[in-house]
Amino acid sequence: MALLNDEPRSATVRTLEPTRALMLSKDDFREVVRSSSGLALRLLEVLSKRIRSADAPMGGLSEQALKDPLTGLLNRRAFHERVAEEANRARRYGDRFSLILMDVDQFKSVNDTLGHDVGDEVLRWMGRVLTEHTRAADSPFRVGGEEFAILAPAAGPEVARAVANRIRTTIAESTPPVESALRITVSGGYVTCPDHGRDADSLYHLADQALFRAKIEGRDRIADPQVQEE
Ligand code: GH3
Ligand code: MG
Ligand code: MG
Repeated sequence: MALLNDEPRSATVRTLEPTRALMLSKDDFREVVRSSSGLALRLLEVLSKRIRSADAPMGGLSEQALKDPLTGLLNRRAFHERVAEEANRARRYGDRFSLILMDVDQFKSVNDTLGHDVGDEVLRWMGRVLTEHTRAADSPFRVGGEEFAILAPAAGPEVARAVANRIRTTIAESTPPVESALRITVSGGYVTCPDHGRDADSLYHLADQALFRAKIEGRDRIADPQVQEE
């Protein structure tokens, strides 16, 4: 906004997710906006969202309300909001996105044999693995006790399956930083909009069913979504 209005910067920004910043001179910035209607449209979207949220000061959720205190990841509430937003975007503009659900295998036995504190440590470690092994555009969430999700904008089924499997093998091959020797595995499911569905709730349901299938098929695996034939 400062560049557009030729004024000093008006805000300090703190990112919630790993983010890349692109530094541009004022002239370059104006030139890029002039030559890319796509970028200009994104800017307008950001600005109109800002104006709307300024109009409804009580409507917005605080950063705290969207964060999971144990892992520092975004929480279930943030996840469902983001999925709804992505589903809207897909409906209006034909954008694609995938979501991946993951659940730690036999986690109850970690708590039962090593204690709840070790369990918590494993969950914090999971949060770090997810953050470190997702691209900047993909956001990890903790959506339940030992359940995690990744939202991958623009990713199709092949990419979603690859991302999920990369994280699954990373976890299976590394050791969480706890005193006892411990191997952790995860199971997962994924789904792509619009390939497997369009509605946020049914997409989530399909991914959850795939996850359930990964569990009964033996765990430490990622299962494909199965769309019911009409
Ligand atoms: P499965 O492979 O079928 O997923 O087995 P599981 O043992 O992981 O599944 P189950 O749902 O039976 O157990 C989940 C466990 O996760 C039970 C619960 O005590 C534990 N849990 C949930 N939230 C937390 C937490 O914040 N900290 C710790 N330490 N444990 C948690
Ligand atoms: Mg579970
Ligand atoms: Mg589990």
